[in-house]
Amino acid sequence: MQTVDIPSFEYTSKNDGPRLLITGGVHGNEHGCVHAVEKLKTYLDDGTIALKQGTLSVIPLINKRAYEEKQRFIDRDLNRNMHYYDDIKHHEDPISNTICPHLEKADILLDLHAYEGGDIPFVSLGPDKVEEKEFGTMVGPTEICWGFQQSFADQANASHGIGMTEYARQFDAIAITVECGYKFDDIATRDVGFDVILNTLQYFGYADTLDIERTKYPYNDNPPTPKWIKYNRAYLKQKDGTPVRVLKHLDKITEGEELYKYDDGEIITAPYDGFAVMPRKEPKVGETILYAGLVDEPLKDAN
Ligand SMILES: [Zn+2]
Repeated sequence: MQTVDIPSFEYTSKNDGPRLLITGGVHGNEHGCVHAVEKLKTYLDDGTIALKQGTLSVIPLINKRAYEEKQRFIDRDLNRNMHYYDDIKHHEDPISNTICPHLEKADILLDLHAYEGGDIPFVSLGPDKVEEKEFGTMVGPTEICWGFQQSFADQANASHGIGMTEYARQFDAIAITVECGYKFDDIATRDVGFDVILNTLQYFGYADTLDIERTKYPYNDNPPTPKWIKYNRAYLKQKDGTPVRVLKHLDKITEGEELYKYDDGEIITAPYDGFAVMPRKEPKVGETILYAGLVDEPLKDAN
């Protein structure tokens, strides 16, 4: 099977412990996230961060060519349809082949991203692990979205909803995505990412990071409302069209409201009162226009 060379760095403590994988640059235009993971590597190499347990695997930049071209991807979104590809058709296929084994080995995954159409860093969780919910709740951002994979359930290609975290969860990992900000190149995105990394190392006992200098974010000074949003339903762009109005992440949508107008006249309307999750300004055909989110908390009974 065809693979590619993706620089990955492994740090192992004398003390046993789980394997933590931290990744950036799955999407090539999210440079701040790459810089956050590179900063972690620098701090591990110069001893500023000393590993106390387990194995820490660090992959700062997964899609190098997309990064160099400042594109989300070259041929297809690497954070969708994650599996092995025997028949290589796209630039991203051998990258998936290289990354899948890393995801299979990980006990814990922190995958850093940035997004367009909003200004609130947020965490993205799966629906059914108490440990994952606890991890996501303490990692930094107070806004939490969950159930990404399940929002694609009624699509023709349900594997569209399987990205880095969803693939790792199939192998029992505790896996979260953190969307660190909205300006892909922005220094604030890098600093949110680095803060989240330090919080992760502290929370799981990998390193003492409380004294490491960082930009403190007022994640909790002004808690957003609502805190918990279920992705609930994804809308993939089927053909050419334009948004009816410019939406931002977590803008309210109202049942029946026209959201997106295809050039042939077909209109996507809001299926219920809810919230726009990660609306895209100019998605390509096959990409997500938005998710119609609902206020809902995962694992309510587990609290
Ligand atoms: Zn991304």
